[in-house]
Amino acid sequence: MDILVPAEDVVPMGQVLSTLAAPWHTTMSVRNFWRQLKHDYLHHLVQPWLDQLVWVIQTQVVLNYMAWATFLEDVYHIGHPKKLTPFQTGLKKEWAHLSSLELSGRSYRMDISRWQCSCKALKYNSFHLCKHLIKSIPPPPATLPTPCSSPISRWL
Ligand SMILES: [Zn+2]
Repeated sequence: MDILVPAEDVVPMGQVLSTLAAPWHTTMSVRNFWRQLKHDYLHHLVQPWLDQLVWVIQTQVVLNYMAWATFLEDVYHIGHPKKLTPFQTGLKKEWAHLSSLELSGRSYRMDISRWQCSCKALKYNSFHLCKHLIKSIPPPPATLPTPCSSPISRWL
């Protein structure tokens, strides 16, 4: 069964592709992926052919991404804590760094429930952290209870 589309709704494929491929429509993650692809896998090629690019993606890029994805699986090293993502590692490192800093003594307007502070550092921090907010809340526990140690999980 054919689906009839009004002529005014038909968009030429070239226009669709140019719209999708326009640099102002690509997201930062796509740009970052393409930059990493060129740097890590295509550094020896100036203008790779399309079939060569597809072959590199199939034989190298996908395999490496699949290998990295196994670290993020829930079944990787069962019984061990899950490996932190790069974002979590960075957040933890930034939290520890800001916790070690001394406060200047100035007073800032803070709202812990909304996680807002009037200092300038908060808006420029990539993790939306500042030392005033971190110092105003109790420190997180050094170790969190594991699911196996809870009495409920023993019954399951
Ligand atoms: Zn602050």
